[in-house]
Amino acid sequence: AKDEGGSSYHFYTLAMNEQVRHRLEVEGHLRHALERNELEVYYQPIVNTVTRQVSGVEALLRWHSETLGAIGPDTFIPIAEQTGIINDIGDWVLTTGARQIADINRRLGLSLKLAVNVSPRQFRNNSIVASVLKVLESGIDPSMLEIEITEGVLLGNHPETLALLAELKQMGIDLSMDDFGTGYSSLSYLKNLPFDRIKVDRSFIRDIETDKEDLALVKAAIMMASGLGLEVIGEGVESEPQYRVLADIGCDYIQGYLFSQPVDAQAFEAYLRLQMTT
Ligand code: C2E
Ligand code: CA
Ligand code: CA
Ligand code: CA
Repeated sequence: AKDEGGSSYHFYTLAMNEQVRHRLEVEGHLRHALERNELEVYYQPIVNTVTRQVSGVEALLRWHSETLGAIGPDTFIPIAEQTGIINDIGDWVLTTGARQIADINRRLGLSLKLAVNVSPRQFRNNSIVASVLKVLESGIDPSMLEIEITEGVLLGNHPETLALLAELKQMGIDLSMDDFGTGYSSLSYLKNLPFDRIKVDRSFIRDIETDKEDLALVKAAIMMASGLGLEVIGEGVESEPQYRVLADIGCDYIQGYLFSQPVDAQAFEAYLRLQMTT
């Protein structure tokens, strides 16, 4: 058994080295992704549960590296976050997303709200406020913008982060708590911070038709949100039965493959046109 342990340790370090090497490779290419035009903003509709109308859209970043191929945000966002590259990338997503959705709104006579994911690092050096100001100066209405943060942003309870959230709120930007239910202290955060919406994580939605506990938790989240004056978005809705359950228990908005996968700006506009004619 000892010998096996020895060799598996050896194997383990090799695997580790491989991991580190891959990470460094991704990091190296990520640094140039922006200037090489390899990033693209995809859009996924957020649908009003009662009217079934699209009311908003979430920006989801995509990276197609010339050398490494397509790499998912779950892989490259954490690296961008650790290296600080997220500040430039996050600024680019906000600027590009706001411009593309404002154009679509104008062409189609809509007023969709754009939700953008913001990482903890973008709060640490105020880069998020600078980015938002830049977008507002370009003539975008603040009521068109929403920022999604996870509890990671709030961990450590830095007074500066709380001040920045209040500042964004004062500028007229909406705030959403993303991945709701997956962290620890959501309740006190929701009481003390200026959130407008919570997004219930898709892990609670997946089995909601069959799992009584998931159903109970989502119901409780909706009741609590309504008591706090917050709206609720159900994430990762893939089927009509899931939609029905969420509509029945009063979930305000739905997002998921049932309506559309995230798609590029052109496909998103085509999707909206189709919705408007049917
Ligand atoms: P998230 O913010 O929770 O985004 C929702 C994720 O669920 C997206 O994955 C979306 O494609 C996926 N999704 C939506 N509907 C369904 C569904 O019905 N079924 C399933 N199975 N999945 C669904 P994606 O695009 O791979 O993004 C992963 C995560 O990467 C995001 O999770 C977010 O945390 C992060 N991310 C993406 N874009 C950005 C960005 O521009 N900035 C930052 N900071 N993070 C981003
Ligand atoms: Ca999100
Ligand atoms: Ca989420
Ligand atoms: Ca269960």
